[in-house]
Amino acid sequence: MLYFLLGLLSIIALQSILFMQYYGRGYRINKKHMFFSVIFSLYMIYVIEFLHDKIIHMNTDLIMIMLLFIPVGMLMPMIYRRYRNFLLVMVYTVLMDILIFILQNLAVGRINLLVLLFSFVGVLFGFFAGTVLNRTFPEFRKSIILKKRKKKILFALYEIELVTICFAALFMMISMAENISGKNLNKKLKDTISYSHNGDDKRWNIYDSIYYADEDKYGRYESYAGKHPDMSVEEVVWRVDANLDKEFYDEEYTKYADADTDKPLLINKFNRVSEDFEPYRLIKIEGDYEATPETVSAYKRLIEDLEAEGMKIYVVSAYRSVAYQKRLHNYYLKSDEKEVVETYSARPGYSEHHTGRALDVSQVYNNLDAFEGSDEADWVYKNAYKYGFIVRYKASQTDVTGYIFEPWHIVYVGEEISRTMHDENIETLEEYVVKYIDHVKP
Ligand SMILES: [Zn+2]
Repeated sequence: MLYFLLGLLSIIALQSILFMQYYGRGYRINKKHMFFSVIFSLYMIYVIEFLHDKIIHMNTDLIMIMLLFIPVGMLMPMIYRRYRNFLLVMVYTVLMDILIFILQNLAVGRINLLVLLFSFVGVLFGFFAGTVLNRTFPEFRKSIILKKRKKKILFALYEIELVTICFAALFMMISMAENISGKNLNKKLKDTISYSHNGDDKRWNIYDSIYYADEDKYGRYESYAGKHPDMSVEEVVWRVDANLDKEFYDEEYTKYADADTDKPLLINKFNRVSEDFEPYRLIKIEGDYEATPETVSAYKRLIEDLEAEGMKIYVVSAYRSVAYQKRLHNYYLKSDEKEVVETYSARPGYSEHHTGRALDVSQVYNNLDAFEGSDEADWVYKNAYKYGFIVRYKASQTDVTGYIFEPWHIVYVGEEISRTMHDENIETLEEYVVKYIDHVKP
């Protein structure tokens, strides 16, 4: 937004200067041309703003890039007199593509060359559409193009676009400076602040006493706390550590949990496994269902005790490959809205079932919905931790997990973790990982 406002101000200033300079010297101002020129400049600045906010998170959304470039191609033949100004459009497009590549490279460490193709398709389509419009409404075009005798104005108006380009360049430099020296600059600023707050103001000090607070996230804690005034400082900190101040699936905060282990623990909407991930070992658990050996033996102990109390549960789902999850997820997408599907079905790669440690169980074979409220569900909820299992998607944690209450979904995490969570009243694996795995409790 800041960039947009700065750009807007610079355009207004420039237009005023131009107006004062030429008005009264016998030059007539072509108001329509000026209007379109300003619109064009504003649009370019909007594109820059958009790139800054979004592109680094959606580096594969090529359709959006194509759409953004259509007006660029369209406005040019409408504003300028000669079609050879097509060249100018091309220069714009290349500059914008370079900006996209720089942002992509800084954000995700690689560039997507298809951006080039899609932006040019967009710009060519726009140029074609603009040309057709000109042919269809020649009077309109005549009224806005600049005549040769107003050469001075023509030149001056190019300056506006020049400002846009300079602005883009300036933005690129700011962005690069932020990213290249990024952490150092931020840290320096933060040190200065916390130093100056050593006196009465305890602004940052509240985080210093929390062992799982990360110094480089103090700003994020502050802004999350601002949005959740009733939340305890501890909860703010572990939630931000778990990236809950970000959108689910935000690429910038997504990690491959199987990067250096074949037994990834935390799988959620920020921690995924790679496409070809397979658990280190799978054995049969019930029917054709498979799970890791630890899961199977813990589950056997669990159902033994459950059955001793006269109850019975069945496995309804266990290990799923990423490919299988893809088919399942797409199947759900056929009947439900995307937003709804996301609350009960994980995207492929993001399902805990990939680990071979997650089980869906029910006392009615193949019917998960029947489980909620049953005696069996109660028993599992109360006792699963004794066998190393946790109920993963609790009703109280839907905003942490991003999933609806799933009483049937249990996951084997080992007795050490499940018992600690039980004893310390830790409701979700996200909180446990922040407090016991990512940080060492003093
Ligand atoms: Zn499940």
